Amino acid sequence: MFYPEPVSKLIEGFMKLPGIGQKTAGRLAFFVLNMKEDDVLDLAKALVNAKRQLHYCSVCNNITDLDPCHLCRDKRRDGSIICVVQEPKDVVAMERTREFEGYYHVLHGAISPMDGIGPEDIKIPDLLKRLSDEQVKEVILATNPNIEGEATAMYISRLIKPFGIRVTRIAHGLPVGGDLEYADEVTLTKALEGRREL
Ligand SMILES: [Zn+2]
Repeated sequence: MFYPEPVSKLIEGFMKLPGIGQKTAGRLAFFVLNMKEDDVLDLAKALVNAKRQLHYCSVCNNITDLDPCHLCRDKRRDGSIICVVQEPKDVVAMERTREFEGYYHVLHGAISPMDGIGPEDIKIPDLLKRLSDEQVKEVILATNPNIEGEATAMYISRLIKPFGIRVTRIAHGLPVGGDLEYADEVTLTKALEGRREL
């Protein structure tokens, strides 16, 4: 297919997104071409602003436009519990349950020797620093219920034990091999309630 260059550039751009093949990218590109110019400008601005204005919270590593993020700023939360998750979207999933009142720590990934990702490549050193600075009594490991998530939870629990901090793992009711973000609120609430000691 030979498109004018601006169109092929647009298609190439869409193809960089996850789960978008050439066909879908083509459909999206032509959809955009038919959009109102104002809507296209709004979309372009939203993309650029999200990239420019968001960064990692210096405390929990969640994505935020404020530093510390709004969750870390919330003094009503329970400072004795930290919930460790893999991705910012997992924080959103946990918040949707309205059950968790502690603070978060976002790892930005999981340990995966197959992909060459070690403990130093994700935010584990930051977590250890927090645990030595803050008065934490419990760490809830809410990494994904798959091989990488389990390996990461086991690794972190071994590191934390010497701090004398209670380490728990959510598990109950979560589909094995799944992603936290796809769990519904009830399942996730149950998983949180049914967390077990590691
Ligand atoms: Zn934060």
